[in-house]
Amino acid sequence: MTAAGAVKHGHLNTDRHTHTLTVCVVLFRGDNNNELVLEERPYLQQQYVSERITHTDMTALTALPPGLDQAEWLASNTVAFFKHINLFSSTLSELCTPTTCPTACGPNNIVYTWTDDQGKKLRCSAPLYFDYTMSYIQDLLTDEDVFPTRAGSVFPAGFVFLVKKVFLLLFRVLAHIYWSHYREALVLGLHPHLNTLFIHLTHFSLQHDLLEAEHTQPLQDLIIALGQYSLT
Ligand SMILES: [Zn+2]
Repeated sequence: MTAAGAVKHGHLNTDRHTHTLTVCVVLFRGDNNNELVLEERPYLQQQYVSERITHTDMTALTALPPGLDQAEWLASNTVAFFKHINLFSSTLSELCTPTTCPTACGPNNIVYTWTDDQGKKLRCSAPLYFDYTMSYIQDLLTDEDVFPTRAGSVFPAGFVFLVKKVFLLLFRVLAHIYWSHYREALVLGLHPHLNTLFIHLTHFSLQHDLLEAEHTQPLQDLIIALGQYSLT
């Protein structure tokens, strides 16, 4: 069983997913005669972006506590983010199928491709892509040579590089959820949790320089809408 499969226990009452919420927002004004370009992005609607489960100071929450080893802080938070995002992904997995999501798409219909061990790029369905993703991360987190847990162990030279890779993959999971499954998240009442998790992840990434601007760009409008102006 894969890492993702091991926790795919979420059960949804699909009868509740008949709601449709259509929200069109102005994304940007085109150069030609201020032509309005509209796109359906309900996650940007103010009534939703204002919802979160805590208003904790995320900068203080994500900063390295005095006296703590930075690698230890990165490792423990990476594990925690993986568990939380895997749980969200698993809860929505019944709604993310090869039929509903034939590609691992994100905002602006960006399509993520998985790169296998031989460097070959695989264009696959979203559930398969995220199964690869979660299995890859789980294998990494349980590799004692990469994420050592024994007292006195030393983190490898490429540790931060691998942490950055994990954060990129986790960000893509959230990008797909916001882009393709936000309505289901709304129906389930998950959006305050989703927003909080997203804010926490992006703040942590900013504090520790884990995500490149080009990688967060697909959800830059959400970052701004959530009031994270310092991230721009
Ligand atoms: Zn999907």
